[in-house]
Amino acid sequence: MPTVVCVGCGAEVSDVSGPVHAYMCSSPGCWQLYGEVTAQNLAQAELRLALDCYAAQHPGGAEHELRQRQSVAVHLTSLCLHIEERLPAAQLMTRLNRMSRTVLPLLGASAWPYLPPPERMGDMTVADVRSVAPEQRAACLGDWAEAVWRSWSAQHETVRGWARLALKGR
Ligand SMILES: [Zn+2]
Repeated sequence: MPTVVCVGCGAEVSDVSGPVHAYMCSSPGCWQLYGEVTAQNLAQAELRLALDCYAAQHPGGAEHELRQRQSVAVHLTSLCLHIEERLPAAQLMTRLNRMSRTVLPLLGASAWPYLPPPERMGDMTVADVRSVAPEQRAACLGDWAEAVWRSWSAQHETVRGWARLALKGR
C-alpha cells in the first residue's frame, strides 16, 4: 500500500481516498486511523484526550475557518488543563463543554483568536496510538498528549492564560 505524509500531523499514512473531518485538516488515511483508534474500547477520558491531541495536530485552515480556530484553541486549552493543572477527567469534560461560554466573555472576545501552529507537530501521532497493544494504550495516549503540548510551546503562555480563565468559571 503506497503511503503519504499527512498534511496535518506529518504521520506516514496509507494513501487512500476517503472522507476527512469537516474542518480538522488531515489526509484521509490519517482520519481513517483516528476512526480506528476511537472505535476501540476507549474510556471517555481517553476519547477526550485522543480528540484533544488529534485536533491540536491538525490545525490547518484555522486562519479562515471559525470552527477550526475554536477547535484548536479549546482542545489545546484542554491539553493544558490535563497536563499542567492535572484536572480530573470529569471536571475537565465539564470545563471543555462550556469553555467558549466561560473564556470568551472573560477575554472580551466574540471568537477565539488564531494561534499560529508550530512547524513540526511533535514526534508522536495517531499512528503510534493505533499500533500499540491495548494494555499500552493509556500510556501511549499520555505520551502523545505530552508530545503535542510540547510542540505548541511557542503558544504556551497564551493557552495557559485561557486555561486560567477556564478554571475561573464556576
Ligand atoms: Zn494526521
